[in-house]
Amino acid sequence: MNKQEDSHKYFPGTRDELLVQVRKSVSDKRYQHILGVEQVAIKLAELNKFEIEKASIAALVHDYAKERSAAEFKQVIMKKKLDTDLLNWNNFIWHGVVGAEIIKDELHIVDEEILNAVRKHTIGAEDMTTLDKIIYVADYVEDGRIFPDVSLARTLAYNNLNDAVAFETKHTLEYLISINGEVYPDAILTYNKWVVK
Ligand code: FE
Ligand code: FE
Repeated sequence: MNKQEDSHKYFPGTRDELLVQVRKSVSDKRYQHILGVEQVAIKLAELNKFEIEKASIAALVHDYAKERSAAEFKQVIMKKKLDTDLLNWNNFIWHGVVGAEIIKDELHIVDEEILNAVRKHTIGAEDMTTLDKIIYVADYVEDGRIFPDVSLARTLAYNNLNDAVAFETKHTLEYLISINGEVYPDAILTYNKWVVK
């Protein structure tokens, strides 16, 4: 099966049509990040015997809604009757959980495994499927990322996906605490599940 045919399973159009829509929705810089995440997601799918096309589509849409306004996210939260506590949060949280709804409406991607991977890509979750982990980790270690220990994070990612999830969760939390940043409560659940021994 070629890539174009395969993508029809998850997106009602060709891969090129999906790329056009994603490109229209984000800045050039973010589009490059998205393509970088796709490259890593494909490698991680291969290494973990996961379906490549599904990982590719999830990666391509993971930040689709990242540049939408707060007003738009709040509208979607109300319209879709999502948890109203979401209204107290910000783009970092919204573009995953609320972004999945925007992806469903605008891109007509309805595969729940893909949508869940988008929902969970920023803070992870207690329960993470292989696809959830692939997108969470690929987002963290794609080639454009620069931070201390990024090469260690990459080595972990290509050796053991669970170790990479733990590393990312711990270091993201450490960073947030170091800057007195707000921690989304569910991020603690991710930490307790994947980091605590
Ligand atoms: Fe994101
Ligand atoms: Fe991202």
